[in-house]
Amino acid sequence: MSALYANETEGVNFIREWYQHRSRYASLKNYKDENKVFIMAPHGGSIESGTTELALATAGFVKNFNGDTDTSVTHNYFIFNGTNPKDENGKLHVTSSHYDDVDANELVSNSLISFAFHGCTDGQPDESTGHGYQACLIGGRDQVLKEILEAQLKNVGFNAFITTQDDLDGSLASNIINKNKRSRGAQVELTTSLRKSFYTKHNRKDRRKNTTADFWLFINTIRASIEEYEVQFL
Ligand SMILES: [Zn+2]
Repeated sequence: MSALYANETEGVNFIREWYQHRSRYASLKNYKDENKVFIMAPHGGSIESGTTELALATAGFVKNFNGDTDTSVTHNYFIFNGTNPKDENGKLHVTSSHYDDVDANELVSNSLISFAFHGCTDGQPDESTGHGYQACLIGGRDQVLKEILEAQLKNVGFNAFITTQDDLDGSLASNIINKNKRSRGAQVELTTSLRKSFYTKHNRKDRRKNTTADFWLFINTIRASIEEYEVQFL
């Protein structure tokens, strides 16, 4: 990301935000670590629109939202928000396997479970039926978490499935989401139309105040999936 940071200015072209709980235990072996879970939106703001709000809510930080999560649990997170004018945010997209932000890397490397939100177009998935296609493609190297996510999201009616499609499956070891303590994380690619269905106003300022019931169903299902998985590490 060094080229990006050399050419774009923090606070003008982009805003980074993160939260880190204090660790209760420094030892890697001790799984009673408050930093178990890490949530990320590497291409948030206006880059892959709608992913910032999804990451914040999944991490449990919903103070300024028009809704609430089922539980009050909070997780660590890192969000990179593209804040350039329209059509100038694509250049802020650094691929996940070249994502060398120091703070993001520290957060992921101190976590046991990591999960990222991405956005793709309606037409990108091989399964796409064209414009208006709503889908959640599950990827990453954490097979167990992927299966829990797929089962739970399908169970509540989302078109969610594990993908093996190149460049959407997050399978590279060098993908930042796979750089946690266990070298495996999970990610979702949400099509534009699925992300749109989560908001009645779809811009950076208004989104969090204009979420839909489906947004909270999606968020709470992902949070429940992570909770189900977390039990293994208690
Ligand atoms: Zn992305």
